[in-house]
Amino acid sequence: MRIEELKRLGKQAGFTHIAPLDCSTIKLLPEVRQMCASNACHMYDKNWSCPPGCGALQECEERVQKYSHGILVQTVGELEDSMDGEGMMETEAAHKAHFSTMESLLRPLYPHMLAIGAGCCTRCTSCTYPDAPCRFPDKSFASMEAYGMLVTQVCQDNNLPYYYGPCTISYTSCFLLTEKL
Ligand code: SF4
Repeated sequence: MRIEELKRLGKQAGFTHIAPLDCSTIKLLPEVRQMCASNACHMYDKNWSCPPGCGALQECEERVQKYSHGILVQTVGELEDSMDGEGMMETEAAHKAHFSTMESLLRPLYPHMLAIGAGCCTRCTSCTYPDAPCRFPDKSFASMEAYGMLVTQVCQDNNLPYYYGPCTISYTSCFLLTEKL
């Protein structure tokens, strides 16, 4: 599918920006995993989509290495000020909704794509981790950070801005679409 058509689908899903992703630029960094382990977001070891439940960095690398091209998708929100937590949460919720819509639009076209989101999986009110297997293994999504990606690096190496000025917030996800031949 041409990038113009993917951009059209992305806009239809609600994203602010859609850009081509060269999967060879993706670096999975142990330092990012260490940030997860510091548990700043309080989700470490609490959800199948987050470390360590989402698998070792090497397993993530094996999944990512199968792909050559994809897209980066962003939702940019306006904040009243830098402390506008409500605005941040609203933008995050909107991004997750856009991501879910885009996943539904792309899955029939790319049945083997790898969809990597933002934040932990929130499909269930309460995750089964670690007591029982994931309820929806085909519908749960790990974040770019859980994969060890530094979102700013991936954006920069694919010519997509990450910062859109004061009183804005952006959430980024990606869809790895084309498998290597
Ligand atoms: S789908 Fe449910 S059980 Fe699976 S990772 Fe998401 S929240 Fe947890």
